[in-house]
Amino acid sequence: MSKEPISVNAIINGEKIQTDKKITRENPTHPEQIVGYAPNNTREETIQAIDAAYEAFKTWKWSDVDDRIARMNRAIQKIKDQLPEIAELLSREHGKALYDAQGEIAISLMWMEFAVENVKKATSPEELNHENGRTIISHDPIGVVSAITPWNYPISLSTIKIAPALLTGNTMVLKPSPFAPLAVSLVTEIIADEFPAGVLNLVNGDAEVGVELTSNPKIAKIAFTGGTNTAKHIMKAASDTIKNMTLELGGNDAAIVLEDFDVNDERALRRMVISNFLTAGQICMIAKRVYVHRSIYDAFVEKYIEAANKWIKVGDPFHPDVTVGPVNNKAQVNYVNSLVEDAKNKGAKIIPLGTILNPELMDNGYFLQPTLVLGADVHDRVVVEEQFGPTVPILPFDDEEEVINLHNESIYGLTSSVWGEEEHALKVARRIEAGTTMINTAAVQGLDVHFPFGGVKQSGVGREYGLDGIKSYTETHVINVPTMKELPYIPE
Ligand code: NAD
Repeated sequence: MSKEPISVNAIINGEKIQTDKKITRENPTHPEQIVGYAPNNTREETIQAIDAAYEAFKTWKWSDVDDRIARMNRAIQKIKDQLPEIAELLSREHGKALYDAQGEIAISLMWMEFAVENVKKATSPEELNHENGRTIISHDPIGVVSAITPWNYPISLSTIKIAPALLTGNTMVLKPSPFAPLAVSLVTEIIADEFPAGVLNLVNGDAEVGVELTSNPKIAKIAFTGGTNTAKHIMKAASDTIKNMTLELGGNDAAIVLEDFDVNDERALRRMVISNFLTAGQICMIAKRVYVHRSIYDAFVEKYIEAANKWIKVGDPFHPDVTVGPVNNKAQVNYVNSLVEDAKNKGAKIIPLGTILNPELMDNGYFLQPTLVLGADVHDRVVVEEQFGPTVPILPFDDEEEVINLHNESIYGLTSSVWGEEEHALKVARRIEAGTTMINTAAVQGLDVHFPFGGVKQSGVGREYGLDGIKSYTETHVINVPTMKELPYIPE
């Protein structure tokens, strides 16, 4: 689907800005087609956006929560009204299938509505009268938040930050990824238009803009989603001014299939396949390595291939039957290929999965044939690195102790899943080191915006979603009026 390229704006202090220098976003399905342009903002423009947010905070922090809720509700309605056009643009610039783009926006709206409905519950002040005096505990906004987001779920990973930050009285400068800046810019503009100038600012660019957003002394909190290595730079950049941080990072989520998993459960196998290949495997919380008890390994692999061949249909994201579109960018294609090649060279068997619906697109677009990797070693790159693409290794294990160790020795701990008889799976799940562990499902199928989401170890710091995901944009302020008792240990 070729269309005229769109040009999105930066937003600084309520002004819509165009720049001479642009980020060009191509269509991963047809890389010769340009989907649109975003401003390639400079460091100076980023400072202007931070200054605007800093000034706006001085009044916005005292705004009434009902007023903030009303503004956010208007923005939610406008996003709903424009959902078809936004989803279409997201699908074209990203490469994810149209249903997947619509799903991303639906999850974003679900979260924004949760945040609106729960901001008071999460942050209303508590007044306590007790035997030691009177105490008021309030949850105050933090200040200017810089939000930096990746390309894989650009809208949901931006709104996950925008909604709670603004509803709790913070101001923000958002910087999306240059690999998918267009649809998220439209959504951000819709929201920014409902709020006073300077409350929500938007800049585009890459590391240079990111460095300003993570080191500028006027930034009080960083809300970052992206790779673990980028987060290491961010922590260093932020250390001079000790910023509050939420970091949502990479994962190498394991699916553990116990010996009592029913290999004839077609719905469960379908969920497993989706949890490996949705969005062409480019989800932080997708199951990226599968360990299966050796007693059912052969039967599992056979049934898995059947289920995968049924569900995976690769092609144009706008083809009504396509479930897996292209990968977002060429560098990611090369990286995933390098992991598969490495495993193949070490003797692993690579099994192609699914049906190619548009063979004519495969060579030109950023497509990868989804694959299963069998016979890889537990230490091969495809097992220990985050592939973030449509390939998955399946490995056998002999006992639970061994597989729990294999899971927990990873530097990552984002999500995980255990598949089998429920009580048995729960027992194993309790021993897993991860932010979330799902039973008999995985990835977004088990996601619930009502509950906190985030990683342990090098998968992150802090939580998004749930009441915690709202509270994380506040600082607790205790005002204490103690009864004026003399402290017995202080001398006259
Ligand atoms: P990335 O780390 O390359 O980029 C993320 C963002 O950081 C982009 O906006 C980028 O421009 C910016 N950036 C780059 N260098 C910077 C710097 N020095 N300072 C500040 N900002 C900088 O990640 P990506 O390739 O866009 O996304 C893929 C990664 O994101 C994967 O590892 C994936 O697992 C992770 N991810 C995590 C979650 C989660 O919730 N835990 C969700 C989605 C993606």
